[in-house]
Amino acid sequence: MLIANSVLDRVFFCNSGAEANEAAIKLARKWGIQNRDGGYEIISTNNSFHGRTLATVSATGTAAYREPFGPPTPGFVFVDYDNMEQIREATTPQTAAIMLEPVQGEGGVNVPTSDYLQQVRVWCDEQGILLILDEIQTGMGRSGMLWAYEQAGIEPDIMTSAKGLAGGVPIGAVLAKEHASVFVPGDHGSTFGGNPLATAAGAHVMRRLLEGGVLANAKARGAQLQQRLAGLQDRHVLVSGERGIGLLRGLELSSDVAVDVANAAREAGLLVNPVRPDLLRFMPPLTVAAAEIDQAVAIVEEVLDSIEQN
Ligand code: PLP
Repeated sequence: MLIANSVLDRVFFCNSGAEANEAAIKLARKWGIQNRDGGYEIISTNNSFHGRTLATVSATGTAAYREPFGPPTPGFVFVDYDNMEQIREATTPQTAAIMLEPVQGEGGVNVPTSDYLQQVRVWCDEQGILLILDEIQTGMGRSGMLWAYEQAGIEPDIMTSAKGLAGGVPIGAVLAKEHASVFVPGDHGSTFGGNPLATAAGAHVMRRLLEGGVLANAKARGAQLQQRLAGLQDRHVLVSGERGIGLLRGLELSSDVAVDVANAAREAGLLVNPVRPDLLRFMPPLTVAAAEIDQAVAIVEEVLDSIEQN
């Protein structure tokens, strides 16, 4: 079902997002060793998040996740997100792949300029290197489409998925185009990878996403949340803007009060994540109702009122 509903040709199932990215990294490194004369470097971006295993923290462009654990896995080079020039400068004969989130989630709901992913795709084709998209946070309908790459109008060579893939049952997947599928039996494996429980749950979630109006709901509720959050700017000095895609949205704050707002919102019954000191991330369920969006924004508004008055 994943292959039938994506541009990728092959899939390997594992048990989490980090594991999916581990597999993607191994696959790209093997491909580079075979096709780039031994080159195995992967260009990643500052503020990215790719998981908490040793290779995926090494691929993560946030020092706090990476640095407490001694020497990182070699072979990762970091550039600023949404900066084509730095990608060009960082690409060498050693480069095998560029690894990106279509929108950086944990790093602050960072939405790149509209042609960034297209430019990266063109660059990868010109240079003969792979594009790995980490759709663990942006995929499975979060963007309002099944995959965020569809919105960008590009095709990755390797893609990873997890999080909502089986609706809460642990699963991860790495997908690849045929030309990048260089694993042979024995290269990779996992005892529980592809187990019947997780894949049955995943198949059910996929059917509901494709048939049940969930994507249309995510798109409509995303637009509603965008509008409501943007409206807060008119009434609150603490709000400086709003950004995101679909139901992955960030509320920009004019000072570092995100933790205070998140704590007070939790007390009032709403979970939001202060992913940056001045940014709150909203990731409601894709099935969220219109009234629940209004209720959530009303809670944020009350919290902002009380912080602004103190
Ligand atoms: N990649 C991205 C973009 C993520 O947002 C996450 C989790 O937040 C991961 C990878 C890691 O996934 P997991 O927590 O399932 O290992």
